[in-house]
Amino acid sequence: KTVCVTGASGFIASWVVKLLLERGYIVRGTVRNPEKSKHLLELPGAGERLKLVEADLLKPGAFDSAVQGCDGVFHTASPFFHKNVTDPDAQLIDPAVKGTLNVLESCAKAKPRRIVLTSSVAAVSYTPKKEGASVVDESFFSDPDLCRKEQRWYVLSKTLAELAAWDYVKEHNLDMVTINPTMVIGPVLQSAMNTSTETVLEYLNGTTKTFANFCLGWVGVKDVAMAHILAYEKPEAEGRYICNERILHNGDVVALMKNLFPQYPIVAKDADDSPRVTPYNLSSEKVKKLGLNFQPLDDVLRETVVTLKDLKHLE
Ligand code: NDP
Repeated sequence: KTVCVTGASGFIASWVVKLLLERGYIVRGTVRNPEKSKHLLELPGAGERLKLVEADLLKPGAFDSAVQGCDGVFHTASPFFHKNVTDPDAQLIDPAVKGTLNVLESCAKAKPRRIVLTSSVAAVSYTPKKEGASVVDESFFSDPDLCRKEQRWYVLSKTLAELAAWDYVKEHNLDMVTINPTMVIGPVLQSAMNTSTETVLEYLNGTTKTFANFCLGWVGVKDVAMAHILAYEKPEAEGRYICNERILHNGDVVALMKNLFPQYPIVAKDADDSPRVTPYNLSSEKVKKLGLNFQPLDDVLRETVVTLKDLKHLE
């Protein structure tokens, strides 16, 4: 079977491509910079079954040929969280929303059996409804007005992109599932570092001096990639799938890293002395029912450190 992965050179997508090739699929990977995609051509099976296609998210029709004849389309390309957002529309929102609709328009012509959209827990939990809820699950959507008010532009981009995608697939009768991961870390296949792995590096090398009074979920990249595969392959898969191994307060992540890696100069402290907020309960039960078992965060962090050493960011 032939499948398409958009943004194939990215951190998560590279793992999706690797698993698809291991499972015998013929893969078309769309990239915007072939120079950043050389690692994909070295994956087992790539010589025979991987074709890279250049496609720009904002160019109408750019994905038509890549998705034509595909049984599955994995749309992962989207700009990830930026530290310096000066133009939210140009940097984040347009590529996320218009890019997703552009890919879906190509799908409406090609009619794949299923589309798997890489959304985020950012599109789930940024809502006041979360306060006081005993569990946050796939029925929650982040609140665009709150995102705008608090200038959470990445969160807004993922929320608007997923909402627009659901509207589009309903209108055009397409089968779509979404994967909604928390912070994804783990072994890096590509040569450039991605933002979520960099967050771990900055704790380990002492660049991060303080952390916000905030809780975040964490999950391994291999599990997130496998969730994409299961959601595509299992006929019964439907709707959204939260992927999260554990939610921790930033302070507890730092404590865990200090414990696992005493050799590194981890210095991060609470940004202020207000009482630490407690982690909310985010449910990943739905994806577990598809057969996903999460690798424990301790192991994922150990593998992340191995990657950071291989990339020569750590001794
Ligand atoms: P990467 O930055 O490694 O991957 C992002 C991919 O999107 C890259 O292939 C990138 O291409 C492509 N891309 C970004 N902007 C554009 C654009 N304007 N036109 C074409 N392609 C573009 O990050 P991740 O692998 O982490 O992210 C993949 C997806 O997963 C995203 O949708 C992200 O929102 C989502 N996600 C990530 C999480 C994480 O913690 N990492 C958590 C939850 C969701 P190029 O290589 O050329 O830059």
